[in-house]
Amino acid sequence: MAKIQMKTPLVEMDGDEMTRILWQIIKDELLLPYIDLKTEYYDLGLEYRNETNDQVTVDSAEATKKYGVAVKCATITPNAARMTEYNLKEMWKSPNGTIRAALDGTVFRAPIQVKGIEPCVKNWKKPITLARHAYGDVYKNTEIKVPGKGKAELVFTAEDGTEIREIIHNFDGPGILQGIHNTDQSITSFAKACFSYALDTKQDLWFATKDTISKKYDHNFKDIFEEVYEKEYKDKFEAAGLEYFYTLIDDAVARVMKTEGGFIWACKNYDGDVMSDMVSSACGSLAMMTSVLVSPTGVYEYEAAHGTVQRHYYKHLEGEETSTNSVATIFAWTGALRKRGELDEIPELVTFADKLEKATLQTIEEGKMTKDLALITSLEEVTVLNSQDFIKAIRETLETL
Ligand code: NAP
Ligand code: MG
Repeated sequence: MAKIQMKTPLVEMDGDEMTRILWQIIKDELLLPYIDLKTEYYDLGLEYRNETNDQVTVDSAEATKKYGVAVKCATITPNAARMTEYNLKEMWKSPNGTIRAALDGTVFRAPIQVKGIEPCVKNWKKPITLARHAYGDVYKNTEIKVPGKGKAELVFTAEDGTEIREIIHNFDGPGILQGIHNTDQSITSFAKACFSYALDTKQDLWFATKDTISKKYDHNFKDIFEEVYEKEYKDKFEAAGLEYFYTLIDDAVARVMKTEGGFIWACKNYDGDVMSDMVSSACGSLAMMTSVLVSPTGVYEYEAAHGTVQRHYYKHLEGEETSTNSVATIFAWTGALRKRGELDEIPELVTFADKLEKATLQTIEEGKMTKDLALITSLEEVTVLNSQDFIKAIRETLETL
């Protein structure tokens, strides 16, 4: 059969350790035999990032802006141990952080549901997509451990020297203080990314904060979402039969438990951190999650939500067998290929992405899976496969579809 032809290259960001090994097997077994794969390749493996003084990461982000769609392998974020392990010139920043900053994006994550791996919440029939604002609040805070009696004030000094001043608390004894911030620009980008993604995936959008208690800070998030919605998205939502609604975060948490799923839940940075871990663990595993970074201008970067699976990689280097789950990495590729197919109007590419996802899920439903899933499945007849054989089993299923 003739291979599927592509028009615009995908930005391919290779990565590290076990996921780099899976990356190559996925390409060899599941993509190259079927697609005349057109990619612009960037090696974000730590060695090459170090060699290029991390320029390769910046270049890959620029290429993503140029072409519109990227697929990324998991990468090492260096720490002290990696400095020695890779003999690094500098403790390079997290590539995800660099790319997110360049694209000004919001991360959307949704569990990949499959028969045999049931969510703990019985009525969740469809995936719940978490949209997490990835800037500011408690992740960019300033803190003081108050030593004793004294007055704490919140002061803003404008460029012209005028001050806004509020008393936070008159301390009678020791305590703690925290200063946090966000910007209208970042919140607006977040809102636009959420509304665009909801339209793109044809799902309702929920947004929740604690505006009754935080009458200026959280209320500002609520107001900006409302303003962006009214100005740019209300008509489009109505035309698509979709709903946007705002509610209090505690109400949202209670309602989420009672729904069937199938919507997008936008969360402030901290809420998103906590709630995405709750949703993903209730649905099985980090290797069964899709993750896509969407910019307000409609640029997409697909990735796996998990890391480089270092522990498995060291076993692999020792010559031991590994059973690493490649589903999230396969879905990063299918997400990117489908989007490229939609943008370039290549229906065969869209169909291929659908088929590959179907083959992946069907393989698991037939009882062929990696060890992480075998430990939690409700299926009775299970064959545990190693990293490579699992991908080969998916190819066998794919050939039958
Ligand atoms: P990790 O790679 O997510 O793995 C943590 C553990 O989770 C593994 O040891 C494994 O448990 C399990 N696991 C994760 N993914 C799996 C998969 N696909 N199949 C089977 N089991 C899986 O996190 P980490 O070990 O803390 O981090 C390793 C490196 O990844 C770090 O250098 C970190 O900087 C980087 N990282 C990158 C990204 C990214 O690029 N998006 C995200 C997070 C972390 P068992 O060992 O019990 O089998
Ligand atoms: Mg977390």
